[in-house]
Amino acid sequence: MNYDLTNMTPKDLEKAINFLQTLLGNTLENKNTISKVVKQENESIECPHCHCNDCIIKSGFTKNKIQRYLCKKCNKKFISTTNTLCYRTKLSFGDWQLFFECMSDCLSIRKTAAKMNVNKNTVFAMRLKVLQALSTFRNSVKLSGEIQADEFSIPINFKGMRQSNMPRYSKKRKSASKKVNHKVCVLGAIDENDNQYLEIVGNGEITSKEIEESLSNKIIDGTILITDCRSAYESFAKKYNLKLEQIKSSTYKNENGYTLSEINGLHSNFFGFIRTFRGVSTKHLQGYIDYTVEVINHPKEILYYAIKQKSNITIKNIYNATFPFDVDKAYADYH
Ligand SMILES: [Zn+2]
Repeated sequence: MNYDLTNMTPKDLEKAINFLQTLLGNTLENKNTISKVVKQENESIECPHCHCNDCIIKSGFTKNKIQRYLCKKCNKKFISTTNTLCYRTKLSFGDWQLFFECMSDCLSIRKTAAKMNVNKNTVFAMRLKVLQALSTFRNSVKLSGEIQADEFSIPINFKGMRQSNMPRYSKKRKSASKKVNHKVCVLGAIDENDNQYLEIVGNGEITSKEIEESLSNKIIDGTILITDCRSAYESFAKKYNLKLEQIKSSTYKNENGYTLSEINGLHSNFFGFIRTFRGVSTKHLQGYIDYTVEVINHPKEILYYAIKQKSNITIKNIYNATFPFDVDKAYADYH
């Protein structure tokens, strides 16, 4: 930008300086907010490199006037957003708020980009970073007491995959396959204190090995496991010393009064929500599942939780995401 200021009167110059200073102040404040929010959300400042939290001193400001810190242990400098998912984005906290509004309204990537006035790829990356950040919730879930568990399946979706990379059957498909192997199997569990999670365990019918891999490290002191009549649950309950209450698919309650109503409620909430996104690639499905569970449970806190999460996801990771199981094997009957 080139402005000819030489012809301006001193009075006009003074006005221009005042105007520019206000403008500069507003711009800096806007940029600054996201690091302030992240700082407020974290109870104590921790070094993102060595995780030390009692050896941090303030160390001046960045060129954008953001507080910088120095870790005396590893001698590295950082700011409150270093390595979080909003590190190095030029987006303000307001932009992130708008992004989350669009997401809870289930707007498409294209519509969100138009509303935010940013590139579609930026929105796509933001969305997948957020989805990935929320997986920490699922990983930390602990279940106790009476636990309802049940699985459901959802057709495999190849959205975003090149035709040449797809298994042969899926290329000529007109509607979603009805074969059980061509479906993603999602296991869900909910305990008496409403702790809950949903996790992709594979494709096809659920096996006791899949149940064990998904559930065993989440149960801390379970007493009763309530499931349908699949034998896969029987061997799991036996191995982990859980009293098993099974409910026949034709009935709502078993003879001891147990039902699967809580877990079925979670499943139907999930289906209601995922439908509004109009086709989610199986590669990114787990992220959307985690998001749904969190939106149902903590709609207000989700933004504040997500933006302070550490994230090393890059655009390259996103495009190289793999399927949560072997797709070629799932479609082996067509090779
Ligand atoms: Zn350090």
